[in-house]
Amino acid sequence: MKTQFPFGRRLPCDIYWHGVSFHDNDIFSGQVNKFPGMTEMVRKITLSRAVRIMQNLFPEEYNFYPRSWILPDEFQLFVAQVRMVKDGDPSWKPTFIVKPDGGCQGDGIYLIKDPSDIRLAGTLQSRPAVVQEYICKPLLIDKLKFDIRLYVLLKSLDPLEIYIAKDGLSRFCTEPYQEPSPKNLHHVFMHLTNYSLNIHSGNFVHSDSTSTGSKRTFSSILCRLSSKGVDIKKVWSDIISLVIKTVIALTPELKVFYQSDIPAGRPGPTCFQILGFDILLMKNLKPILLEVNANPSMRIEHEQELSPGVFENVPSLVDEEVKVAVIRDTLRLMDPLKNKREKHFPDIYMDRKHRFLPVSDRMSSSKLQLSEISIVRSQPHKKPLAGKEGPSDCEPAGASDTNPNPEAHLPSICLKQVFPKYAKQFNYLRLVDRMANLFIRFLGIKGSMKLGPTGFRTFIRNCKLSSSSLSMAAVDILYIDITRRWNSMTLDQRDSGMCLQAFVEAFFYLAQRKFKMLPLHEQVASLVDLCEYHLSLLDERRLVCGRSSRAGGRAPGSSTPQGATRSAQQADGHPPCCTDSARKSSGPRRALS
Ligand code: ADP
Repeated sequence: MKTQFPFGRRLPCDIYWHGVSFHDNDIFSGQVNKFPGMTEMVRKITLSRAVRIMQNLFPEEYNFYPRSWILPDEFQLFVAQVRMVKDGDPSWKPTFIVKPDGGCQGDGIYLIKDPSDIRLAGTLQSRPAVVQEYICKPLLIDKLKFDIRLYVLLKSLDPLEIYIAKDGLSRFCTEPYQEPSPKNLHHVFMHLTNYSLNIHSGNFVHSDSTSTGSKRTFSSILCRLSSKGVDIKKVWSDIISLVIKTVIALTPELKVFYQSDIPAGRPGPTCFQILGFDILLMKNLKPILLEVNANPSMRIEHEQELSPGVFENVPSLVDEEVKVAVIRDTLRLMDPLKNKREKHFPDIYMDRKHRFLPVSDRMSSSKLQLSEISIVRSQPHKKPLAGKEGPSDCEPAGASDTNPNPEAHLPSICLKQVFPKYAKQFNYLRLVDRMANLFIRFLGIKGSMKLGPTGFRTFIRNCKLSSSSLSMAAVDILYIDITRRWNSMTLDQRDSGMCLQAFVEAFFYLAQRKFKMLPLHEQVASLVDLCEYHLSLLDERRLVCGRSSRAGGRAPGSSTPQGATRSAQQADGHPPCCTDSARKSSGPRRALS
C-alpha cells in the first residue's frame, strides 16, 4: 500500500488491507481487501448449502463437491440415505469425514465408517458440523496423500471478475497413505493434509527446493505428472472450472451481504478478496473441492526448532515463490491509478490484450509521475517467473533469464483472468444469481438481508405469479411455512423475514408448479425469465410514466431506475405514478405504444 498508518488512520486510503473481515474498520471510500459476508459464506455449513442448491439444479456440473449433510439438522437424512445406498449395494463400504463448522487447520476433524459411530453422537450434542463422503482414492505422490492450495482473486462481484494464480502450493501428508480401515482411521498424518498438523510429525521435510519435501509448488507436481504422460492441460482446465463454479455458487448471497453493507447510491468502498481454495486430486485426476478459505495464510516463513523448545522463523522458499507473486499482482490489479492510466492511454493497454505493462514500460510510454507508480514499485521483486503462462508450462522459474527482452527481469503476471474470459461457458449456471437480483429488488428497507411478507407479495404481484390456482392467501402461507423453517435452522436471528435460501426454495416450488413437465433447472430458468420479463415491462412503463409526469412538473428523482425500483417496493406493488386504469390496461406493451 502507498501509505501505512501504524498508529491509526487519519486520511482516506486507496487500498485498505484488513486482517480479518470487511468490518475491521468503518470505510466510506477506496478499496477493501475483504467482501462483507465472505467469512460467513465459506464456513463449512454455508458453503455446503450454497453448493447443494447448485447441485440440485446442475448435478453433473457440481459433482466436484463430496456429498455432505449438515449436523445436527440433517442427521436423520444422513442415516436414511446411507442405509438406502447400502441396501441397494451391499459392497459399498463408505467412509465419512466429520468437520466442525467454522473449524480450521484440521481442528476437531475425524473419520467414521458408519453413522452409528459413537463420536458422532457427541458432535450432535456439542457443535454444528458437516459430515461428508470421504474421498478414499486420492492421487498419491511418493505414496503420500497431498492437497492443493490455490489462490483466487475475486476482483469484483458485479460484474463478476475472477483471477486464478498460475501456481499454488501442494501440502503433503507425512505418513504413507492407505485406504481407510478401522485400524488407520485415526492416523491424522495419513489422512489429513493440513500443514499445521503435519508440521508436528517427525517425518515433516522442510526443503530448500520447491519440488521436494512436505510443501511444494503445484507446478512442480504438474511437471512430474506431465513427465509421466498425464494431460495436465485437462487437469488445469478442470481446476479452473471448479473455481468458477464455486464462485458462482457463492455470489448470490454475497450480493445480499454487499447491498446490505454498501447500499447502492451511497458513498462506500469497493471490495476485492484473495481466497484460498483447497483442492484434492482423485486418483483419476478429477479435482475435488475441500473448502474455501476467506483468510488464507500469507506467511512466507516457517518455524524451525533450533534446539529443543527453541524456535526461530526462517524464510520458506516455496511460500515466498507462490505468495509474494499473488500479493504483488493483486496490488497491481487493484492499483487505483491503473483505470485512470487506461483511460488516458487506451492504446498502450489494449494492445496487450488486457495485460498490464511492466513498470518500466509504463514510465517510458506514459511519462507517469514517480509517485503515481509507487504502489507497484514498492512491491518486493522476487525471483522472476517470466515466460511462464501457467502451471502447465514446466519451465522452471527464471529459465528465461537469458531472454533478450529488457523487461524480462521484471516478474510477469501470475494472476490469470478466468472470468469474464470464460463467461460464455459458465453464464447458464448463474440462475441463483439472477434470483438474488430479484430478491434484492424486493428487499425494501436498505440494509436488510431478509424479505418481509409485503415484499414477497409484491414480488408475486409484480411478476404476475398469482393465478386462480395460486391465491394470495396461498402465497402468504407459502411465505410463512418456508420462512419459519429456515429461521429455525439458521443461527442468524438478527432480523426476521425470509432469507435468500428460503426465497430460493419458494422460487423452486413456484417454478415446479408452473412448468411441471420440465427438468428442475429449466423450470427455474423459465420462471426467472418470466419474472425478469414482467419486471422489465414494469420498468419501461415507469419510465414512460416518469417522463410524462416530469413533463407535468413532477420531481425528477422519481424517474430514475433506482427511484422506480424503490417505489416498486411500496406495499401495493404498483408504481405510484401509474393510474388504476393504466394498471388494468391489458398489456404493458400497449401502454408504451
Ligand atoms: P480444515 O478447515 O479444518 O482444514 P478441511 O475441510 O480442509 O478442514 O479438511 C482438512 C483436511 O482433511 C483436508 O486438508 C484434507 O486432507 C482432508 N479432507 C477433508 N475433506 C475430505 C474429503 N471429503 N475426502 C478426503 N479428505 C478430506
